[in-house]
Amino acid sequence: MNSWIEIDKASLLQNLDYFRQSIKKDVKIASVIKANAYGHGIEEVASIIADRTDFFAVHSIEEARIIRRFKKPILIMGYVQLKDIEEAIESDYHFAVYNIETIMKISEFSIKLNKDVLVHLKIETGTNRLGFTETELRNAIGIISRNEKIKVCGAYTHFANIEDTTNHYYAELQLSRFNERLNTIETTMNRKVDYPHTACSAASLLFEEAQFKMIRLGIALYGLWPSKETLLSFMLKKHDDSPAVLKPVLSWKTRVAQLKWVEEGDYIGYGCSYRTTSKTRLAILPIGYSDGLDRSLSNNGYVLINGKRAHIRGRICMNLTIVDVTHIEEVKLENEVVIIGKSGYEQITAEYHASWANTINYEIIARLGGHIKRIII
Ligand SMILES: *Cc1c(COP(=O)(O)O)cnc(C)c1O
Repeated sequence: MNSWIEIDKASLLQNLDYFRQSIKKDVKIASVIKANAYGHGIEEVASIIADRTDFFAVHSIEEARIIRRFKKPILIMGYVQLKDIEEAIESDYHFAVYNIETIMKISEFSIKLNKDVLVHLKIETGTNRLGFTETELRNAIGIISRNEKIKVCGAYTHFANIEDTTNHYYAELQLSRFNERLNTIETTMNRKVDYPHTACSAASLLFEEAQFKMIRLGIALYGLWPSKETLLSFMLKKHDDSPAVLKPVLSWKTRVAQLKWVEEGDYIGYGCSYRTTSKTRLAILPIGYSDGLDRSLSNNGYVLINGKRAHIRGRICMNLTIVDVTHIEEVKLENEVVIIGKSGYEQITAEYHASWANTINYEIIARLGGHIKRIII
């Protein structure tokens, strides 16, 4: 085992409980476990929260298959190909629809299989990604009204600009468009939609009016803030200066694979991009960019060994990384190394990696290799 990921079960459950207590009583929680549960391991995360979540939300039918055995309602938010619609109906998945072609296929199979189908109409409100425009929505409702097997269980939308700003006028505009469309659906069908939903983590943390009947909880479930702006807005709004309401769930660790002394003026790694300025002790780590360690951390980031920072020297390789441990006493072969997580009084967060790699915490965790073993602690 070259590296492993530890999943802190207690923290994961605490994050879920925090939302359970802070949202309105009749609001359900859909735990978003797409992208291998944001890199945490879809099966591991699903097994921990299955008893406590109301829904699972995934991106694909492949992910839905993996967690079907937990017997919770599963919402597929991404695209279900026309050839997979029969399976989705047979498996009782809830699925997002935003194409007329999809509605027509659903209509065909619901009759053929004589089975009810639960759909969530995805509404375009300004993100211009997936979603029915107003005209398409009216056509879709027309088809649905003629087939009583299709149940509009949900209607939802997704915010475009809620994480990147402390100014939330665009989110409010989307919310008002969503309310109009919801009203169109409910008046045309002459009944209420069971689960209107709009809120991702940021909206769940900041706006009660975005909760409707369900929230879709992603990054915050894993104890990470959607952005600095969300944290700032939260602190101003709740008069709470404690980012500690969310507890990071994941740690990524490895072990020292080799130790060596090199001379002053020696080059390190591919491209000779680093040259020592004094006699230096190096530790070689058996992880690299193929595991999800961004190559832009070359000569840039650091890891933790025995509670101390060890800087990355030279280029990160496909499977290996070289760090400077000259100043750390008693580093031994197979000593534990923390890539993300805590060691002594030091901590490296996914946010540090994101700032070193010029990206967001979501990307850092979501692309941690699926081959890395996840261990529940
Ligand atoms: C991924 C996703 C979410 C979760 O977003 P977070 O910011 O991680 O909470 C919610 N809704 C949709 C449609 C998504 O694709």
